[in-house]
Amino acid sequence: MKVIHDLNEIYTQIDFVRRDARRIGVVPTMGALHNGHLSLVQRAKQECDVAVATIFVNPTQFGPNEDLAKYPRTLESDLEGLRQLGCDFVFVPPSDRVYRANHSTFVEPPLVGKRWEGELRPGHFRGVTTIVLKLFQLIPAHVAYFGRKDYQQVAVIRAMVDDLNIPIRIEACATVREPDGLAMSSRNRYLSTEDRGRALGLWLALTKAQNCLMAGDTTCESLERGMRDELAKAPVDSIDYAAIVDPVTMEPMRQVDETAVAIIAARVGSTRLIDNMTLVANEK
Ligand code: AMP
Repeated sequence: MKVIHDLNEIYTQIDFVRRDARRIGVVPTMGALHNGHLSLVQRAKQECDVAVATIFVNPTQFGPNEDLAKYPRTLESDLEGLRQLGCDFVFVPPSDRVYRANHSTFVEPPLVGKRWEGELRPGHFRGVTTIVLKLFQLIPAHVAYFGRKDYQQVAVIRAMVDDLNIPIRIEACATVREPDGLAMSSRNRYLSTEDRGRALGLWLALTKAQNCLMAGDTTCESLERGMRDELAKAPVDSIDYAAIVDPVTMEPMRQVDETAVAIIAARVGSTRLIDNMTLVANEK
């Protein structure tokens, strides 16, 4: 496994692989890797000839009051996990090379990034689209793997790739969960034992929405009320949103005909958690 820090070096190496007509899969991450991240790398290994992981805590996607400074950094164990999977390249660029002092160009995120995370974390998706485009330029892969855990992020990246004609296929991969259902997240390590128990409320709320839908309740307002009740039972400390949305546009829905996505963002202690579930109605 080659660990590369230099921007010219990664481009040259990937160019070399491309000339060999080998397929490249890239997995962008911010490190503090868990099995969710590793599942994306596994997928890249299965489907491509060469797997590239990137580790970069992207400052432009953090708001001024967010956890950039204390975001977990565990490079040595991250590299060990990637090595064990047989990852071919890991790109770990220095922040001041990615964003030079005079950096002033940003990618305006697409419409699908307006609501939810876009509204609650102003500038977040602008940081995401900018870094992802930069990584796609440096690593012109054939396929890029993202987790469905960040559902709106995948929608934003898909729209950017379509809008800007970026020749890369986006694959959304299933959310990897702890045995009890909690979605794996780098931020879970902030949770105290007591918070960890309450954090399960997100999963319980999502499964409740799916169960109510299966039982015939197709009204979004009522499904959302059920999710909020479940979150209050946990209890979580605050709810940013708990909504049923269109899987493509992410606009709120009134009624579920066939499918929808339940999305939640909530705070447990000082940790902000997000999760989602694709809901499927009973066939009529
Ligand atoms: P992050 O390091 O949080 O930026 O995440 C890097 C990638 O891993 C993103 O595409 C995430 O959606 C994905 N990811 C994070 N958590 C999970 C999970 N539990 N299951 C699957 N993918 C995940």
